Amino acid sequence: MEFVETRGNDSRRPARVSFTQAILDPAASFGGLYAPASLPSLDLNSLIGKGYKEMAAAILNTFDLDLPQELLQAALDRYDRFDDPEDPAPLVSIDGNLAICELYHGPTRAFKDMALQPFGHILSHLAQERRERYLILAATSGDTGPATLESFKERPNVDVVCLYPAGGTSDVQRLQMVTEEGENLKVIGIHGDFDDAQRALKNLLASPSFQAKLKEQGIRLSAANSVNFGRILFQILYHIHSYLQLLHRGLIGAGESIDLVVPSGNFGNALGAYYAKKMGLPIGKIVIASNANNILTELIQKGRYDLRGRSLIKTTSPAMDILRSSNVERVLFDKFGPQRTRELMEQLEREGFYELSPQELQELRQDFEADFVDDGQIKETIKEFVEEHNYLMDPHTATTIGPYRRFVKGVGIAYSTAEWTKFAPTVLEALTGERGVDDRRALERVAQLVKASIPEPIAQLFSKPIRHETVIPKEEIEEEILRFLDSRR
Ligand SMILES: *Cc1c(COP(=O)(O)O)cnc(C)c1O
Repeated sequence: MEFVETRGNDSRRPARVSFTQAILDPAASFGGLYAPASLPSLDLNSLIGKGYKEMAAAILNTFDLDLPQELLQAALDRYDRFDDPEDPAPLVSIDGNLAICELYHGPTRAFKDMALQPFGHILSHLAQERRERYLILAATSGDTGPATLESFKERPNVDVVCLYPAGGTSDVQRLQMVTEEGENLKVIGIHGDFDDAQRALKNLLASPSFQAKLKEQGIRLSAANSVNFGRILFQILYHIHSYLQLLHRGLIGAGESIDLVVPSGNFGNALGAYYAKKMGLPIGKIVIASNANNILTELIQKGRYDLRGRSLIKTTSPAMDILRSSNVERVLFDKFGPQRTRELMEQLEREGFYELSPQELQELRQDFEADFVDDGQIKETIKEFVEEHNYLMDPHTATTIGPYRRFVKGVGIAYSTAEWTKFAPTVLEALTGERGVDDRRALERVAQLVKASIPEPIAQLFSKPIRHETVIPKEEIEEEILRFLDSRR
């Protein structure tokens, strides 16, 4: 499989690269991304009855990646750390039409583990093989940080520095980071919010003194964010697995088309579904669920991506509080080609918006639908599902139900992207109206109320020693990171 650039080629970089190149050096010409030049077609019949890893290996083989078989297998073995290695993404039937695919059964209890676990193994292995040293910098508002740390913990040739806004994450998310062990990990709290953390990271990447220092030590920078195709790859697989599960349970017939509802932020999960559909998985619509930051709803309903006059709204589903949704670019590229994609993305950067033509919008709407819900609806849904179905969901998952009811007429899968335990105060408020209860108390209260259990990795967070105490103003980040890198020599 070869990769091409979403905004065309600047003739300084190769026009086509291998998978390995695309994941080690993910920056493409003109600020674009790498996207697959073509996708293999799916042979669903040959996958029926296979366990998750076996299915995944069979599909990945058809991608013809420049990775040895054993490496792919070892990457998939990371699913052994999930609650049920045979079924890392279980599908729970709510009624005859709605099933919820739970993507949160990995070590950090959010769906980022589905991709970051195997991806981390591959990146570190490649670095080792090439005798290269990588630094991964991540700014997190809550879920990406813990998943990135957990993925690279104690892995050779990769160090991770994770910046989080002190006071800007939930207690559980913060503890997941600051209690993390591993000599190659550094977690830094900064005074400010997530935007400050992200801006600080950008400034750092542009700092000549920082660049020089990295170069001197022979350290390369890489990114583990969701624009890296190495993550997207693993997000194609669970959509296929869910479909096979429905078939296996006799809830659909062979070839029957289903709809998917995806809680979306950076559009990685939805892009995985889009690629699965292109490979031949019988999917009708991919329904994009958003919270009050409903820029994707506007794009898919009206053909307009418009940042002007918008500012980020803080909601109870923070992992979806995003206005610049990076992976949309890969869909634009796939449908409209590199020239048009470059034009649209440059207009977005220059003027803060772009608008599709009516034909382009129609084209987009062949695969996507979209809707959003507000925080009030999220809480109502959480309560309703406990009362009606005895099913506990987190606020991100709850964004799918309104859009599901509006758009899905037949069988549909809604994706659950986080366990309730990561957002217990919101869940408690939804169930009882109690506000402002801290994470620890809220976890206990909810567990008691619905007779749920708190998984060990979450329960033990509150008694683990704090290993990362650093909380600094953003002006000191560069110095702090350089000190950490020195200590790693
Ligand atoms: C990251 C995340 C999302 C958004 O997924 P994208 O692939 O970025 O669209 C939704 N829910 C949770 C809990 C997440 O952590």
